[in-house]
Amino acid sequence: MTTPTVTEAAIFATLRKVFGFHEFRPNQEQVVRAILDRRDVFAVMPTGGGKSLCYQLPALLLPGICMVISPLIALMKDQVDGARANGIRAAFLNSSQSPEERDQVMRDLYAHQLDLLYVAPERFSLDHFRQMLARLPISMAVIDEAHCVSEWGHDFRPDYLSLSALVTIFPHLPVAAFTATATNRVQQDILDKLALRNPLVVRASFDRPNLLYDVRFKDSVEAQIVALVRSNPGKAGIVYRTSRKSVNDTAAMLQSKGFRALPYHAGLSDGDRSGNQEAFIRDEADVIVATIAFGMGIDKSNIRYVVHADLPKSIENYYQETGRAGRDGEPAQCTLLFAQGDIPKVRFFIDAMVDEVERAKALGALSKVIAFAANSVCRRRTLLDYFGEIYPHANCNSCDICLGSREVVDCTREAQMLLSAMVRTEERFGATHIVDIVTGSVSKKIRDLGHDRLKTYGVGREHDKRYWRQLLDELLAQRVVERSEGLYPTLCLLPKAVLLLRGEERIEMVRLLEKQKALATPAVRAELAFSQELFELMRTLRKQIADEQGIPPYVVFSDRTLRDMARLSPRDAEGMLLVSGVGEVKLERYGRQFLGLIDRFCSDAR
Ligand code: ADP
Ligand code: ZN
Repeated sequence: MTTPTVTEAAIFATLRKVFGFHEFRPNQEQVVRAILDRRDVFAVMPTGGGKSLCYQLPALLLPGICMVISPLIALMKDQVDGARANGIRAAFLNSSQSPEERDQVMRDLYAHQLDLLYVAPERFSLDHFRQMLARLPISMAVIDEAHCVSEWGHDFRPDYLSLSALVTIFPHLPVAAFTATATNRVQQDILDKLALRNPLVVRASFDRPNLLYDVRFKDSVEAQIVALVRSNPGKAGIVYRTSRKSVNDTAAMLQSKGFRALPYHAGLSDGDRSGNQEAFIRDEADVIVATIAFGMGIDKSNIRYVVHADLPKSIENYYQETGRAGRDGEPAQCTLLFAQGDIPKVRFFIDAMVDEVERAKALGALSKVIAFAANSVCRRRTLLDYFGEIYPHANCNSCDICLGSREVVDCTREAQMLLSAMVRTEERFGATHIVDIVTGSVSKKIRDLGHDRLKTYGVGREHDKRYWRQLLDELLAQRVVERSEGLYPTLCLLPKAVLLLRGEERIEMVRLLEKQKALATPAVRAELAFSQELFELMRTLRKQIADEQGIPPYVVFSDRTLRDMARLSPRDAEGMLLVSGVGEVKLERYGRQFLGLIDRFCSDAR
């Protein structure tokens, strides 16, 4: 089959008219062109990098049907909804459909009424499906989540191995494989297994510039979660916790304060779990409190913040979990609440692991997470370094370290106060009591033990308890003191403590300059400048339309599109088309309603 080459003008016209975008994101154009040149492609692009467009655009320009193999049924529906919202003729075939629905898709396929067909890998391995493929004008094959083909990856799917047949079934068609995660080893494995033919290999940067990384000292976790949720009113967020119990408790606590929060973990019934996920996707719940069971299989692009209230298992997990925020490219905040005091709990679980290799792996992963959280190095640099990437800038301007909200202070004198309180009480007490002594607390325990007569009693009143707890945390981290095991852990001195007490060594601590100063990146500041009110009205309209059509709100328009629309406030169809994410079909479908809203808003403002 010979097909005319596609011109540059046609590519950009489709980008504009169908997707409503005015430029490509990094690497998209290269991939699109390779596919149009009938070349195989292997692309690693981070979440939110815009992988779908890389094959949806060529699918529209190449005659025939683009077949996409995708492992998650839930995601297929989302992808199809998204494509259809732009007027692309898309459908899926999977086990969730009734025979009638499947028949309809088949009829559309034979009538050449589809541009895009999503199928699950198990269907692709069926003989009768392959026979059907032979009778269809397939233009290209796409493998989404291609890392599932590798046993070295974290989501190996045996039925993905059947995909190695693609290149033989389609000897003359391009095969394009995409994934958001692949180490070099996994990448090589994927290339081998799929036997791609001289593919264009693209490895995009893993940097997610719109994510702000913030690590905070964890002292009162519930209050800190509430503060974070409160500072993001009406916005979508995920709070990750380790145990099912803490998920339930945190969700209930947020609900009791009036927040629209729901729990998500493997212990819930299937119905509850998918119901809660659905409510979140449809913007009916703002916060999902979840174990790491949550996240796979959601495409929601307008998640504005992710909180890790407990230590993540590994840097890789942390990157993936935070990566669910801000897929639309709009600013999003990732907060990790961290205290050295959390480490023994995690260690406890790791120590209980039977498999020695697994245990060593878990320990190695934990120590990298601790280094990430405890060091005063740019968080972005540390994350990228983990993926073997060198961050090229000295200051990322979008993490707590680079935004300079910290300073290093000498706290030798204060440390001596704590240590001396420990010495005078014969190293028999835990952190709470020691802090009570230096801050001059008037508790019954203090009086009963006569600790209000100690020389160190109340010497540290100039700082609050939070300060002292953080300093103790630092002493633990720097191995000045040690916590005993057991139900009532006590603190005891290590050799370095003696040097400190004698004044032969000094100690420094990293402190937030101001009280949890609100972090504002340039992008966040820009957000504040434009009309928040109009944006909110648009969100309400978007939700209304989404409900009428039975699709998630972000499929109607992404947050980015609404923000752009609010900023530009177009007054006519032409102006509307300048908004990023408004193509001809969306203009036709929703333009009138949004233009009406802007019109009313502007005349009210006058
Ligand atoms: P991925 O699958 O790589 O995570 P998606 O394909 O879901 O990413 O795209 C993420 C978001 O970026 C979507 O909201 C999409 O509409 C948007 N997007 C994709 N390409 C562009 C582009 N060239 N310009 C602006 N937005 C884009
Ligand atoms: Zn930084």
